[in-house]
Amino acid sequence: MPMISSQEAQNIILQLVDVLTETETISLDEATGRILAQSVTSLYDFPYWDNSAMDGYGVRFEDVSQSAPNNLISLDIVTEIPAGINPQTSIKSGEACRIFTGGMLPNGVDTIIIQENTRQEGNKVTILEPPKNQGQFVRKRGAFYQANDTLLSPGIKINEAEIGVLATSQSSQLRVYRRPLVAILSTGNELISPSDTLQPGQIIDSNQYALKSFLLKQGAVPINLGIVKDQKESIKQKIMEAINCADFVLSSGGVSVGEYDYIEEILEELGGKIYINTVAIKPGKPLTVAKFDNGCLYFGLPGNPVSALVNCWRFVKLALDKLSGIKSEHKPQFITATSSCNLSSNGQRETYVWGQLNFSNGEAIFDLAQGSQNSANLINLALTNALAIVPIGVTKINQGDKVNVLSTKS
Ligand code: AMP
Ligand code: MG
Repeated sequence: MPMISSQEAQNIILQLVDVLTETETISLDEATGRILAQSVTSLYDFPYWDNSAMDGYGVRFEDVSQSAPNNLISLDIVTEIPAGINPQTSIKSGEACRIFTGGMLPNGVDTIIIQENTRQEGNKVTILEPPKNQGQFVRKRGAFYQANDTLLSPGIKINEAEIGVLATSQSSQLRVYRRPLVAILSTGNELISPSDTLQPGQIIDSNQYALKSFLLKQGAVPINLGIVKDQKESIKQKIMEAINCADFVLSSGGVSVGEYDYIEEILEELGGKIYINTVAIKPGKPLTVAKFDNGCLYFGLPGNPVSALVNCWRFVKLALDKLSGIKSEHKPQFITATSSCNLSSNGQRETYVWGQLNFSNGEAIFDLAQGSQNSANLINLALTNALAIVPIGVTKINQGDKVNVLSTKS
């Protein structure tokens, strides 16, 4: 199987992903971060009724349009309308109402004069400056949207503004896509769990936890299946368990060409069809992607901690978004930044280097992380927020030049 570019890998992976079909009904309180699976329409016009956009006086435009310094017009204040009141008094010619922001306009009022442009004495108000137009500072009923308008469509992620809209449309219960189930397993004889005591030659299984954290952030449900030794039958059993309980499987390790790297062989024996086994990226090249008849998509990630995460940020995130029901183009959101230092690559593979993306005077700046940029070095990957990408064929990006950057924190 040939080595393919990251763009080809992205296209293949996205084509392999089937959007979830199952939905569930949840309450508005639980909806943050979920993906909407229904349309939401408005029961009402919004604003619900004509109301005042400012604190001031409600008037009839024709009464005050001629007000001028040498012809000041005064009106009788016949009622006061705070927000929340259904006004009962009609305003006739020569009259005004005191009104506050959000107050419902009474019959007869078509214009608001802000209080700064008036002078009140007793129950009289003098208009110091005429309104520019009829309807000034009036929020008209239905100006923003109308009853039965679609407010939200399926496939959007529900965040705070959407929650506000859902509350306004009285959607106390709503239908969302169920969360994706993703199994995680770590392979390697050298691996121990963080609670064990490290013996010479061993490595603490960090991927199990890093991948779980990544999945939680993406709104998926991680199913941690633990560590499995590099022993073919054990791995086979574990993979079988994984593909039968999850939409996606993320395994780490065992996808290189070493003696103990059995994953690809096992996937085929279990009836998986392999679509990808090497991608021209560094780190992260030995990525294996297979699909099973039950729809489960298998990502065999490399064991090196940085390589595993780079694949998650670059590919698994897009696949999860699509699976989750999010409607979008599903492409990486590259940001063009200026590199604050020289970035190098051997030019053979698309190279990902990690660092901090900052914004200074409106300009995006990428600062390379200090220390070793090695796929086994998790330490300087922490406290970074972005990957800069040196394309294939480019061996150096000079300090001050532009570089494409992928956020790892969104
Ligand atoms: P492999 O892809 O299995 O050849 O592993 C490549 C490197 O990543 C080796 O140094 C492994 O010890 C290390 N590694 C593999 N799995 C994990 C893991 N779950 N957590 C941390 N390091 C790992
Ligand atoms: Mg291994």
